[in-house]
Amino acid sequence: MTGSVRQFGAYSVVHLLDGVFEPSSDVLLHPGGPAARQALIDQAGPTLRMDVNCFLLRGPDGIALVDAGTGDAWGPQLGHARAALQQAGVAPEQVARVLLTHLHGDHALGLLQGADGASAWLPRAEILVPEADLHFFTDPAARAALPVARHGAFDITAKLLRAYEGRIRPIPSGPIAAFPGIEAVPLPGHTPGHTGYLLHGTPHSLLLWADLLHLFTAQAADPDAGLSYDIDPTLAAQSRHATLARAAAEGWVVAGAHVPGFGVLEAAGAGYRVVPA
Ligand SMILES: [Zn+2]
Repeated sequence: MTGSVRQFGAYSVVHLLDGVFEPSSDVLLHPGGPAARQALIDQAGPTLRMDVNCFLLRGPDGIALVDAGTGDAWGPQLGHARAALQQAGVAPEQVARVLLTHLHGDHALGLLQGADGASAWLPRAEILVPEADLHFFTDPAARAALPVARHGAFDITAKLLRAYEGRIRPIPSGPIAAFPGIEAVPLPGHTPGHTGYLLHGTPHSLLLWADLLHLFTAQAADPDAGLSYDIDPTLAAQSRHATLARAAAEGWVVAGAHVPGFGVLEAAGAGYRVVPA
C-alpha cells in the first residue's frame, strides 16, 4: 500500500507500508516504576498495533529508500513494502541508494532475499548505514555483552556485508554528501547509531525519526514511556525528550517507522500532542 506524494525541499516522499506488527503490551516499560508501567499497559490494552513503514524518496540524485521493511522474513502480515514500491512505479534495479536508520530486522531484512537471506534484493543500490550502528553490530564484544535474543541484528549485519559487498557505506551524523538537503540526525538509545533523517524544506521540514517513538500518541504525551526494544532505555528517553522538543519548536513534520501517518507536535502538559499533518 502506498501513500500520497509529499514534497520536502528537493525530495518527493512516498510512504510505503510493509505491514502491521502486533506485539503484546508486555514490551512497554516506564522508569516511573510498576504503577506507571501498569497505567501505560492499561491505557494501551493487551496488544499494541504498530505499522512497519519505509519511505521512497525521489530527488536530484535519483531514487532512494529510507529503510527496506522485513522482506520475506517476518511472515505474511509483513513484507508488503516491495509490492508498494512496485505500485509506486519503481523496480528494484532503479533504487540507487538506501538510507538505513539502524540495523534491526524490520528495517534491514528487506534488503536480503533468497535462502537464508544470502543475496541482495537491490542489484545496484548503495546502502548507507549510520557508522555507529555498523561499528556496534560488527563488534564481537558488543554481541557477547547482549542476551542471545538481541543477536539477530549482528547476524543481519554480517549477511548485509556479504550480500552487498563493496556497496555498504558507513555515514557520520550531519549533512550527507549524496543527499543535498538531507541531514543524518543521531537519535541514540534504541540502538547506538539509531539515526533519523531530516529533509530540509520550506515551509516545513520532515524528520523521519525511525524508532524514536513506536506509539505516536502515548509516547508523545509521555516521552518517558518506552519499549523493551530500546537497547539503552535511558538514552532512548533522552533522545525522545530532546527531539520532540526540537520538532515542536521548529514546526517539523514528523513520521517514523512504526507510527501511522505524518504529524506535527504541539506542547501539551508535560509532553506533546500529535496533530495530523
Ligand atoms: Zn523498528
